[in-house]
Order: sequence, then C-alpha cells, then structure tokens
Amino acid sequence: MTVPFRLAKSPTLSRSTVDRQETLRADPERLRARWATAQVVLLDDKARTPVREGEKSLATRKGVGFGDTPPEDAVFLGEWQDVDYWSMPGGPEGEPELMEARGSWGFREQIPKVGDELWVDLRAYGDMLDDTAAGLFTTAQALRHWHWRARFCARCGSRTRRIQFGWATQCDSCGHEEYPRTDPAIICLVHDDVGVNGERVLLARQPVWPKGRYSVLAGFVEAGESLEGCVVREVREEAGAEVWDVRYLGSQPWPFPRSIMLGFTARADASRPLTPADGEIEEALWVSRAEVSAAFEADGEPVPIAGGASTMILPGNSSIARVMLEAWAYAESGA
Ligand SMILES: [Zn+2]
Repeated sequence: MTVPFRLAKSPTLSRSTVDRQETLRADPERLRARWATAQVVLLDDKARTPVREGEKSLATRKGVGFGDTPPEDAVFLGEWQDVDYWSMPGGPEGEPELMEARGSWGFREQIPKVGDELWVDLRAYGDMLDDTAAGLFTTAQALRHWHWRARFCARCGSRTRRIQFGWATQCDSCGHEEYPRTDPAIICLVHDDVGVNGERVLLARQPVWPKGRYSVLAGFVEAGESLEGCVVREVREEAGAEVWDVRYLGSQPWPFPRSIMLGFTARADASRPLTPADGEIEEALWVSRAEVSAAFEADGEPVPIAGGASTMILPGNSSIARVMLEAWAYAESGA
C-alpha cells in the first residue's frame, strides 16, 4: 500500500549532538572553570570555519589559547562528551593560499587553505560534516549573524552589550533585553493530484539563481500569518496555483542570515495554467518523477527536462529542498 511520503533523513543542517545546556548560560563560575578544557569554533569575517582536509569534524582551537577566562566576544554553544564548545571570531593564521573547491551547492569557489586546513562555508560544505560539526557550525553561524545586527537596542537605539555568554543582549540605556531572532520561512513541495504522492512536482526558478537551477517554492511567513496560510499564499503568488492538503514534513535552520525553513507538501491541479510572478519567478513548470530522479543521478550535471527553458540542476545537499525532493522522488505515486 502506498503511504504519503516523508523525509527519509534529517536535513543536513538540522543534525546536532551538542547539548545546548541553556541553564549554564547563567552559571559563569561553571563555564569559567571549564574554559581551560573548552574547544573554540572560529568563524572568519565571511563566517567560514577551518576543517582539516578529508575530515568531517571541525578544526577547533583550545579555549586556553585565548586567555584564562572566556573573552567578551566568546559565545557558549553547549557541551558534548564532557567538553564545552564555544565560538569566537578569528581568521586563518598565516598567509592562506586559495584553492578551488567544489561545494555541494553546485558552484565552484576559491577557499583559503593554510597547511592542511581549509576554511569552508556552511552552505556549501555543511553536508560534508559529521552531526556534531554540522550542529556546532550552524548554531555558531546563526548567533554570529544575529550579533552583527543586535549591536543597537531595537527599542531606544542605544548601544547594547552581550549577556548570557552570547545568548542575549541588554541595552544599558533602557534595560531592554533581546534574544537571537529567527525568521520563519515556508518551503513547499507541490505535487499533482494523481494517486497518493503525485506523478509530477511543481518546480520554479528565480532569475538570480545559477543557470538551470530549479527548486520547490519558498517564502517568508508574514506577521500574523499561519504557516498553512503562508503555503497557500506563496504558491498562489509565485506560480498562480491553488493548493490543498497542506502537510508538514520537517524543518531546517537556515542561518543565511537568520531563517528556519519549515518544509511542507501540498497538492495542486496540474491541468491548470501556471502564472509565474513577474520579476520574482522566471519560470514555473511541472517536472516528472523520472526527470527529478535523473537529475539526482547526474550528480550536479544538468539534465534535459520536457518543456523547460534550459537543462535542470537541483538544489545542493545542504538544503531542505534537496531532502524533500529526494523523499518525493523515491516514493511511489500510488496511482
Ligand atoms: Zn534601549
């Protein structure tokens, strides 16, 4: 019997092993006492972190190398296997050489290399890391991006200072406290109304994407809007399709700079014409399960699609779109 498809694995940036230990953020004695054995995740000015070539863990630094107690700009990430993990700003020591590497997002880029350490980007390399490294890097990046935007009070505009080891800011002038912000965004795999899981999926491309890149539709949740309402509105606005049977699949933090992607699936009538949103969506079309599977098998090389303006490349391994499309492609339609 065919059942409704579900995500077959955790999205790559949703993986984590570290215990966030929220209560320790108010326990400076304990954190300072363990600083000597703590490990630090460095993030450079482009939020890249070092990994040793061929390894899946992060190349962390010893806390003690930065002084006897955690510096002001250190952020406590949590504890794992009796080690405290922190994050701090910091770049490569020495003169990096630039190495061309292929990230999983499908484009090549120049990344700094010092000795056997590569300074990698979360979006392009997150899926190549183990669960512990992916969780630490994702949380460190989310907090880093928030701190960049939380230096002034949202209420009175005065300078803020960090409290709770990076997990809040407080305004010295009015006392207002602020906590790390996350913007919800929905992402929806819309399939046709055939059988249980459909035979075709609605894909679209934005004009700013690399040539041939197609994905499922996504958009930010508006103030006062439900997630289900957002799914219906975004698909209507971006592709001109009316959806029903909205069903939750799973989520992934997406700290670029501060989203969480909430994955859904829904049905639409594929016989009705699509009307891509002017300027926002360059093309929207229905793609068969066989075409999606062929794109995965091609491993990042473009594949032809019937009715498309160009050949197709699907989203990279770090995206929840990828996990959603894989789960759908390997499910049966049930027709
Ligand atoms: Zn204030």
